[in-house]
Amino acid sequence: MKIALQCDFDGTVTEEDVSFLLLDTYVGSRWREYLKEYTEGRIPVGTFNKKVFGMMKADRQTMTDLVLNSDRVIIRPGFRELTDYCSQKGHKIVIVSNGLIFYIEAILENLGIDSLEVHAAENRFSPDGMEVRYVGPDGTEMEVGYKEAYTELLQQQGYNVIYVGNGASDIFSSRRAIKVFATADLLEKCREEDLECTPFTDFHDVIRGLESLVLS
Ligand SMILES: [Mg+2]
Repeated sequence: MKIALQCDFDGTVTEEDVSFLLLDTYVGSRWREYLKEYTEGRIPVGTFNKKVFGMMKADRQTMTDLVLNSDRVIIRPGFRELTDYCSQKGHKIVIVSNGLIFYIEAILENLGIDSLEVHAAENRFSPDGMEVRYVGPDGTEMEVGYKEAYTELLQQQGYNVIYVGNGASDIFSSRRAIKVFATADLLEKCREEDLECTPFTDFHDVIRGLESLVLS
């Protein structure tokens, strides 16, 4: 059985949302008005991110230094063990995130994890505000459905997708997965929808859950 773990990044690999740290630091509190619009379902996640990241004007080095040195960026325990476990078992791990590619790559590099496939928002630093683009598997820019597009791609490639996530935007891919590991808002969403899932607090829970799966 071909297995792919599709894993969210912010709030999943990291305990807190890294982009919130960047926005709090470089935009100030006004970005949270847009967060409210997004959480109330009035704007899609891609539109929200383009809008608020567009208010960040600092350069790459400054933002990378902040992310790598902040005590608000904590990696959820067991992540390295999960990547080792998956490579031993021959499972693919793909990170698909609505966050920004620059900090995901910087954090993974800092952890010494360089072999993961990552799909996230392409970003261009600019003193006029960061430009952000979500590019789907077919190379076209997309505003909605980014995570599901990669779930669908994995399925088309013959993978059984296991989903790991924390947020409301993870529910769409979760609905398509053969198994879901959920925490925080995603866990709540799954329960509301009666979608079967395994709660997790760290990645050791995910490894245990994978071990107990009968994969034929
Ligand atoms: Mg998340």
